[in-house]
Amino acid sequence: MLNLEGRLMAVMEKGTTQKVLSSLMTASFKNKVTRKAFLRALEKAMWRLSFKGPQRPEKVHYERALMARALLNSIERTLNSGTLSDRCMNALWEIFLGKVFISGIPKRKNFAQTHGFRPPCFVTISPTNVCNLKCKGCYAGEIYTRHTLKFDVFDRAINEIKEHFGAHFLVISGGEPFMYRHDGQTLMDILEKHNDVYFMAYTNGTMITREVARRLGELGNFTPSISVEGFAAETDERRGHGVHRRILEAMGHLREFGVPFGISVTPTRYNADMLLSDEFVDYYFFKQGAFYGWYFQYMPIGRQPSIDFMVTPEQRLKMLKRIWSLVEEKKLFIADFWNSGTASDGCMAAARGGGYFYIMWDGTITPCVFIPFKDRSGGNLYSLYQEGKTLLDAIQTPLFREIRRWQDNYWINQPKDKCGNLLVPCIIRDNSVAFREIVSRTGAQPVDEGACSFLSFIEQDSLPRYNREYRRLVDPLWEKEYVGGNGQSAATAEKKSG
Ligand code: SF4
Repeated sequence: MLNLEGRLMAVMEKGTTQKVLSSLMTASFKNKVTRKAFLRALEKAMWRLSFKGPQRPEKVHYERALMARALLNSIERTLNSGTLSDRCMNALWEIFLGKVFISGIPKRKNFAQTHGFRPPCFVTISPTNVCNLKCKGCYAGEIYTRHTLKFDVFDRAINEIKEHFGAHFLVISGGEPFMYRHDGQTLMDILEKHNDVYFMAYTNGTMITREVARRLGELGNFTPSISVEGFAAETDERRGHGVHRRILEAMGHLREFGVPFGISVTPTRYNADMLLSDEFVDYYFFKQGAFYGWYFQYMPIGRQPSIDFMVTPEQRLKMLKRIWSLVEEKKLFIADFWNSGTASDGCMAAARGGGYFYIMWDGTITPCVFIPFKDRSGGNLYSLYQEGKTLLDAIQTPLFREIRRWQDNYWINQPKDKCGNLLVPCIIRDNSVAFREIVSRTGAQPVDEGACSFLSFIEQDSLPRYNREYRRLVDPLWEKEYVGGNGQSAATAEKKSG
């Protein structure tokens, strides 16, 4: 007879359907003590599985385990805060933990058996590029034609994501997601219709009025990740006068109606130090009550891209160490899209197993939010549907396949001692020359002018030079601390984790 931890491991590792688990999970939800016991069992199971995964250097396993622990710790802190609405608590427990982490796994294993490859575990959709603000440097500025995904197409794509990939987590981006309107339907209608999916949206927060927050508290299956640029001065400087005050009001409304929220930031060479300061972290995580944080280092794509805004190689290294200290010591769930490659098992683009892909407001399908290139024939949702195809076809295009082939060769199919450096995991940003070759081979098309500028940064060697400079700093670190085996064994690491 398996104990709870054993049952969880059986589902997560082997995809064994454990009917009894869902009733145990529901029963554990009733109070702090039983929830804690369940989360501890889940943490132990995830900790062990992090070390049992594919062959990677020990420290990679250790950092995966640390990130999983930080996520569960953040969830527990939020559930126990006493501030969440009943619906939000329930959705976090039953959908996010239950479906995303546990019961979706057998379905994903079945997919792998049928199709010969593992499915992505989430999708990011930007249903509109319309926005109510005019932030400096944003791609959703006025020069772009406004686009909005048709409601029935948006809805159909979500149904396919659930049915085909067994995925119950969706990320909504923009434009501003709360500006989405088509045929009289809004984002709220999507949340209500797909109440078996947990949604996270990147938002500027200014449209989260008291009424919107009340509705979100009733729906439960949604968490906003609110963009901030720093404190009031920095946020207002980029986003407009008074925006920071409106963000704080939104956070107040979300607390009042019990909706969990996080923050997202864009470190550049000018603000990176401030965004990782104690003062900033304490303010948003402990004073305002954010339960997670995303750090998206400035990427030279979109409107008028410039290499000069990117964090310097030295800053990036400093950020790497700082992010991991927050995850390890404060157990905060904070991920840096380019510095957390060990936690995500490398680049997640192109619908690789456990990864994701991106659907834009006009139906364009790209391998990643940060890869503004589409396959030359299968890169649009509307055309796919007209041809009687589905999202299963979208992830099998030459562009997606070539990126997955690169991922396989870089680390996925490599033995431990030949694993590519996961501190520089990104196909487009860190391995720009390889990316350029993939674009040439597949004939992939840039989706906007910023993407064309990005190619010129590669051709003029400015991005490859940046890549080489950063590698000079992190290749020795990777060799010594990861490949060199100064990592942690599962047992010692577990002890250390407490
Ligand atoms: S392409 Fe880069 S940004 Fe996109 S998932 Fe891969 S590592 Fe992350």
